[in-house]
Amino acid sequence: MFTTRHAAAAIACAMVLTAALSLTASAAEYRSVASQDTTAVMAGSTGCPPAPYGARFYAPGSSKTVALTFDDGPGKSTAAILAILARYRVPATFFNIGVNMASRPSLVRTEVKDGYAMGNHTWNHPDMDLLPAAGQAAEMDRASAEQRSITGTVPCAFRPPYGDYDSTTLRLAQQRRMGVWLWSVDPQDWMADGSGSAYWVHRIIRLAEQEGGALRHPIVIMHNQPIGNPATVSALPTIIQFFRSHGYRFVVL
Ligand SMILES: [Zn+2]
Repeated sequence: MFTTRHAAAAIACAMVLTAALSLTASAAEYRSVASQDTTAVMAGSTGCPPAPYGARFYAPGSSKTVALTFDDGPGKSTAAILAILARYRVPATFFNIGVNMASRPSLVRTEVKDGYAMGNHTWNHPDMDLLPAAGQAAEMDRASAEQRSITGTVPCAFRPPYGDYDSTTLRLAQQRRMGVWLWSVDPQDWMADGSGSAYWVHRIIRLAEQEGGALRHPIVIMHNQPIGNPATVSALPTIIQFFRSHGYRFVVL
C-alpha cells in the first residue's frame, strides 16, 4: 500500500516536473532532488530489500529448512549461545530488544561481526496491538536506531513481542522494509526462568524435536534474556544435532 501510494506520488511528481521542464532550466535539478527523496522514503533509509506485507511462520528455502531464532537479548546467555552456534557452524537470527542492546552493546557488535541475522523486537517489548500507530512506529524506530548506533547496520526483520500484532504493525514494518516473522515451534524455554535444571533442559529438547520434527520448515523460538537461559544453552547442541541428523538445512530470516 505504502509503495503503491508513493509510486503514484512519484509519477504525479514526475509529471508536474516534466511540465515545469519547459518553463525553467532548473527543473532537472528539482527532479533529481525529488527522486532522491522518494527513493529514501520508500527504502526507509535501511538498505534492506523490500519486504512483503504480512506475517510468516515458516522458514524460507526449499527441501527441509529450519530457522533458529533467539529473542529478548542480548542477555547473560548470549555469549554461550554464540559459541555453540559457531562450534556447529549454524546460522541463526537474533531478535533483540532495544533496551537490552543498550545494556550489552558489545554482544550486538559480535552478532553482526560474526554474520548472524539481526531482527527488531521493539525497544521495550510492549503488546504492539495495544499501542496507537505512532507508539508502534516509535518502538520499531528506536530499536533500529539503537542497532544502527552500535553497529552501523539496521534489522531487516521484525518480530512482535508475544506474537501480538495488528494490521498497523504489518503496515509499519513493511514501510520500514522489515519482514514480519513469527514462529511455528515453541519449546517454551523462557518458562525455565533462569533455571538450568535437567527438567527444563529435557522439556525444551522434547518440545523442539516433537513440534519441529513434524514440520518441513520450522521456525524455532528460543530466548536469550537478560536473566540468562542456561537450560536453553544446555539444550541447544542436542536440538542442532537433531535437525542436522534429520536432513534440515539451517537458514536465517
Ligand atoms: Zn520477546
